[in-house]
Amino acid sequence: MVALLIVPIGLGVGAIGVAMCALISLPKPPPDTPAFARRASPPVASQLRQDPNARLMRDRGGFAFSRRHWFVGTGCPPARIRAGQMRLIEATQLERPARVIEASGRTWWWFEGRFYWESGSYSEKDVMALVRARERRSKQRLERAHMLLSAEAASQTRREPIPQEVRRAVFERDGGRCTQCGADFDLQYDHVIPVALGGATRVDNLQLLCGECNRAKGADL
Ligand SMILES: [Zn+2]
Repeated sequence: MVALLIVPIGLGVGAIGVAMCALISLPKPPPDTPAFARRASPPVASQLRQDPNARLMRDRGGFAFSRRHWFVGTGCPPARIRAGQMRLIEATQLERPARVIEASGRTWWWFEGRFYWESGSYSEKDVMALVRARERRSKQRLERAHMLLSAEAASQTRREPIPQEVRRAVFERDGGRCTQCGADFDLQYDHVIPVALGGATRVDNLQLLCGECNRAKGADL
């Protein structure tokens, strides 16, 4: 009787064991493909572009739930990256551009935490130079934006009224005429050195200009 019971129990445990093994060893499909990765590849460009969607993902879908690494980018569905390769590019990208993957005629690079893609078959040095050029351009754009902002602030400062006695002194000195063309109408008080550049509202930094000459000067600046 005891022996008869043990046999079915043994069979049952065996069946569960087999099922577990199948579950463990069966690799799972790749992670879901996000919408940006399904998108058609952007038109071919020889320049280097940043891919804001690109990222690395990890899951535990490998043999015996081992960790798997994936790269996904714009127009690039999840692509497997081997563990050894992953460690290598992770360390490399801190110092120089690391080639991550090549897919649909494009190469993705990882450098200083950002992902880029290109289709110009660039070398590591090319990518480094292009990334630095991008950074320089964006720094210049930022500097220009700041200059514009301070110029706007300055033009508001400029509207401060010029004291009556200063106006009178400048008008008399310039003989009531535009110092550029001699016109005696549409006269304006102009700062020789603009307020934006630190010019003072003083007689020696003011002159009479007609509207037309003043606008011409503004365009030159
Ligand atoms: Zn004039």
